[in-house]
Amino acid sequence: MQDYLKGLNERQREAVITTEGPLMIIAGAGSGKTKVLTTRIAHLMNKGVDAFNILALTFTNKAAAEMKERVEHILANREARNLYIGTFHSVFARILRAEAHRLGYPNAFTIYDTDDAKSVVKAVTNELNLDVQHYKPNAVYNRISGAKNALVGAKEYMADYYLQQEDMRANRPMIGHIYDAYQKRCFKNGAMDFDDLLFKMYELLKTFPEVLHKYQHKFKYILIDEYQDTNPAQYEIIKLLGAVSENVCVVGDDAQSIYSFRGATIQNILQFQKDYDEVKVIKLEQNYRSTQTILNIANEVIKNNKGQIPKTLFTENSAGEKIKLVRTMTDNDEGKFVADQIQEMRLRNHFKNKEFAILYRTNAQSRSFEESLRRANIPYTIYGGISFYQRKEIKDYIAYLRIIVNPKDEEALKRIINYPVRGIGKTSVDRAILAANERNISMWEVLTDAAASGFRAGTLQAIEEFVLMIKSFHSMLGSKNAYDVAFHVGKQTAFVKELFNDKSTEGVQRYENVQELLNSIKEFTETPASEESGEVGDKSLGAYLQQITLLTDSDQKDPDADTVKLMTIHAAKGLEFPVVFVGGLEEGLFPNAMSINTRDELEEERRLFYVAITRAKGRLYLTYANTRYKFGQLQQADASRFIEEIPAEYLDKSFAGGGVKNQGSSKLMGSAFERMNRGFGGTEKSEKSFVSTLIGGNGKPKETAHTPSANFVPSDVSKLEEGMRVEHQKFGFGNVVKLEGSSHNPVATIKFDANGEKKIMLNYAKLMIV
Ligand code: ATP
Ligand code: MG
Repeated sequence: MQDYLKGLNERQREAVITTEGPLMIIAGAGSGKTKVLTTRIAHLMNKGVDAFNILALTFTNKAAAEMKERVEHILANREARNLYIGTFHSVFARILRAEAHRLGYPNAFTIYDTDDAKSVVKAVTNELNLDVQHYKPNAVYNRISGAKNALVGAKEYMADYYLQQEDMRANRPMIGHIYDAYQKRCFKNGAMDFDDLLFKMYELLKTFPEVLHKYQHKFKYILIDEYQDTNPAQYEIIKLLGAVSENVCVVGDDAQSIYSFRGATIQNILQFQKDYDEVKVIKLEQNYRSTQTILNIANEVIKNNKGQIPKTLFTENSAGEKIKLVRTMTDNDEGKFVADQIQEMRLRNHFKNKEFAILYRTNAQSRSFEESLRRANIPYTIYGGISFYQRKEIKDYIAYLRIIVNPKDEEALKRIINYPVRGIGKTSVDRAILAANERNISMWEVLTDAAASGFRAGTLQAIEEFVLMIKSFHSMLGSKNAYDVAFHVGKQTAFVKELFNDKSTEGVQRYENVQELLNSIKEFTETPASEESGEVGDKSLGAYLQQITLLTDSDQKDPDADTVKLMTIHAAKGLEFPVVFVGGLEEGLFPNAMSINTRDELEEERRLFYVAITRAKGRLYLTYANTRYKFGQLQQADASRFIEEIPAEYLDKSFAGGGVKNQGSSKLMGSAFERMNRGFGGTEKSEKSFVSTLIGGNGKPKETAHTPSANFVPSDVSKLEEGMRVEHQKFGFGNVVKLEGSSHNPVATIKFDANGEKKIMLNYAKLMIV
């Protein structure tokens, strides 16, 4: 038996080795679903399946990176980098980069984040002469997002009787028109928003049979983690891609479905079984993560939900400690209690910071924990909150870079056309936008032919200078890497200098952030695509932008850093920690006041609580405060009803006043209306989960493998000269054609006998001069 199969239980093993045909694993938290998925990938590759033929979709980039690492570890080689593995959004973005032209988008399309998208919504709402106070961009954007995730296009939206009725009732009958105008504007700007990455992917596969055929044959094995949270768009795409091979393996837990309300929870799981003739279903029942006590209360809590797939979950782990229930007077006391406990456990039990997680229902709750931790000098990392790339100065800088790569990008253009001030005021910008709309061309095209649009002489000159500048930047793209272009832009545009001259505390911080951005671009250009072979990969500005646009806040943080982790429960999905604090267990907060009006909403909150509890391996604290500031007012709070659902025998109330005081398509396709109202609407999730970096293989053809010669010893590469003959540990023999790059990061172009010409970073490469 293969080593990697040894540690698995019988069912897990069966799930790993059943490689052919549709397979569904439905099992409770901590039963090894993700472990099975990872081992399965390793098993497939071990059986000889080419990494290029495996598509694995995970919920976060972090999960994808971990999976890759574990596969590499099991197989002890780097082939795993060729896997297509990542979030739905990152993988589809990558495919769309190659195919978007078929849909009329530039392949170098811009990805709009939610800020960009809302700004476009606002602009088109204004242009339609609608009141943005009434048609709030945020609300309209969420409605559009919900539609796209249910695969409802603008035309379909406007034609759907029920959706129209809904909008009428909400007194916002024009949302469909805004949607239509928004979509057209994004198209004109050569931009897609996060939801388009799914929506357009679906359109691509539906419209172009040859593309569908290509990817159906490429992805012979498809694996999906956290299947319970896929939305209709994702579901339909998987169905299309898997239709030929039918080797689709999904793992999930209906009890952990936390991104859908209104009865949608088990729909896609049930539907999966109907989509194929013979779906093999495997249930995993042993939990390896948590103590018996933690598992017992999780089971007790989730029992209160009616619509669950029956499952048993047991563990052979020890009973462990009781769950600590803690009531404090105020939210600040709650923060202080948690910090004190962490301090104590560090001293007494030698826990490391990174073994603690503090979980909460809403981002705003992080403040009191943060303050207490800071006061106690305990290092921590907050996931969520404002990301580096959302800061104004960073967005400004990146807007310049975006416009160079895709001049049609109107959002970027509007951001920087008069920043720093160059005499192109708001009136002129409005005029340019108007002219663009009238002539149905992009704003950039208007600017390049500004003389035709009747600008005043002074403005005209400023525009012409601006256009010339951007064009000169653009001309660097072919020959310069991302850093060189970005650095040049910073120097030429004077806005970095402006930041530098601002000596206020915020100004200094902003300048440092810009420096940090440049550092990270430099790092990008100096890190090879493959650390093993040292192969350079694409270091262009376009490649850089593609990589960062889908980066989430949490991707920028080192998960191994020895810090206490603070995050919402949504963000904690799939993770585990030795000690978990769940804060704010108060009525109105958790369950949230927004989500207690129907049984379905409440059940979703309960599933969220179930997810929170089951993140804990050994110790679990549930905390709540008597009073808490809400909307600037001190409010009394009752204990959460979820606390009452935990049998007293499992609870330890001896802590700090602990105790409860106050009691208080297929079928899935359906009509547009049904699809949208099945609860797959993109409200919270479109902001939180759908941003991610592009991780995955490089999409290049398979290389000819090379086994290094017996006497292979890497040489001192500083002795390398053009014309020399070398052996590369992976690409084999070849001749050095050219040496370039800086002295601290030299790059060689080598023509390999069996693998053609490649650029290699010498700091990383293992080369022997022969
Ligand atoms: P969740 O529902 O929270 O995503 P999961 O079902 O994906 O959980 P995993 O994260 O894969 O569960 O596994 C939970 C923990 O149990 C991990 O630490 C994993 O390494 C461990 N584990 C899983 N299977 C086994 C096994 N057969 N032997 C020992 N440990 C195991
Ligand atoms: Mg998992």
